[in-house]
Amino acid sequence: MISGSRHSFRLAIISLLGVTTALTLSGFLVWRLLRGDVVEAVFDGAVVVGILSIVWLAWRAERIDVAGTLMAVFNSAACIAATWVIGPGVAGWVYVALMTNFYIAGTRTAAFCGLVLVLTATAVLALGDEAYHFSTPVTWALVYAFSYAFSRRVRQHNDSLELRASQDPLTGMANRGALEARLQAIVAGREHGRTGLLILDIDRFKTINDDFGHAAGDAVLIALSRVLQEERRQGDSVYRFGGEEFVLVIPAGSDAALEAVAERLRTAVSTRVAGPAGPVTVSVGGALHSGERDWQDWFARADASLYLAKRAGRDRVHVAEALIV
Ligand code: GH3
Ligand code: MG
Ligand code: MG
Repeated sequence: MISGSRHSFRLAIISLLGVTTALTLSGFLVWRLLRGDVVEAVFDGAVVVGILSIVWLAWRAERIDVAGTLMAVFNSAACIAATWVIGPGVAGWVYVALMTNFYIAGTRTAAFCGLVLVLTATAVLALGDEAYHFSTPVTWALVYAFSYAFSRRVRQHNDSLELRASQDPLTGMANRGALEARLQAIVAGREHGRTGLLILDIDRFKTINDDFGHAAGDAVLIALSRVLQEERRQGDSVYRFGGEEFVLVIPAGSDAALEAVAERLRTAVSTRVAGPAGPVTVSVGGALHSGERDWQDWFARADASLYLAKRAGRDRVHVAEALIV
């Protein structure tokens, strides 16, 4: 499975590369027909049809992984065949395939295709009748090695940026951005089963900061996040919404089930999180998703519950009554 941003990046590259290559080759096809080189023209035509079919697959079936792999294999095979059918004059296309493979397919697939391409095309040149310069296979190998190294660096860099954008640096938890993306997916109906939302807010946290300093407050946030991670059951997700507010998204079939989880978490915090002046407590507000189309509406119901839990004296749980859906 590839992430959303990588998915759309790869789709854009496959489309741009596929359409540009198909258009360029169509120009060659016409030129070859005008010159009477029918075999070469038919070859170009077959490559154009193959490439456009893969672009179509990427868009229609949304199978980006499969389309990317297919395109890398197809482009590499087409380059080998072109070197064989047309000769060393088309050596330049090998550079294009070697570089682009790393952006349309996974690193391993691209590395494998590139290796086979360099070795096989070199053998085809060596066995062919036409003269070629030795620097051609040497520069293929260099372009292959550089493309591999650069694309790896770019991918690692992108992965770390994606992680940093979705993670809270203090606790290492998923952050508000990740939560919003998840809630949006749920209200858009992209997840099955009924889901509940719990907002946990530390009670009188400001006094910890004021009396013991910001570092003591940070230590409490870290200790609390550790307890929440440990208490999390399979299928539950926990996020730091901001400040001293944490959110859990959990599968829950009823208000009672959601309330039971909230109560378990509240107890775990008050018994296991020690602050500088004694036990730390949280108030919890919850709401089951009740068909809201905007996640903010759902969130507001949980937030209103949290307010009621605070007003009732803190260190307690309140779950909103689910709306009829
Ligand atoms: P209540 O029981 O009504 O929730 O009271 P409270 O004091 O917890 O609520 P309030 O919203 O007034 O205080 C939240 C405090 O959280 C204020 C802010 O200084 C502190 N805070 C927010 N983010 C951080 C952080 O990353 N580290 C630390 N140490 N404090 C933070
Ligand atoms: Mg707060
Ligand atoms: Mg608070």
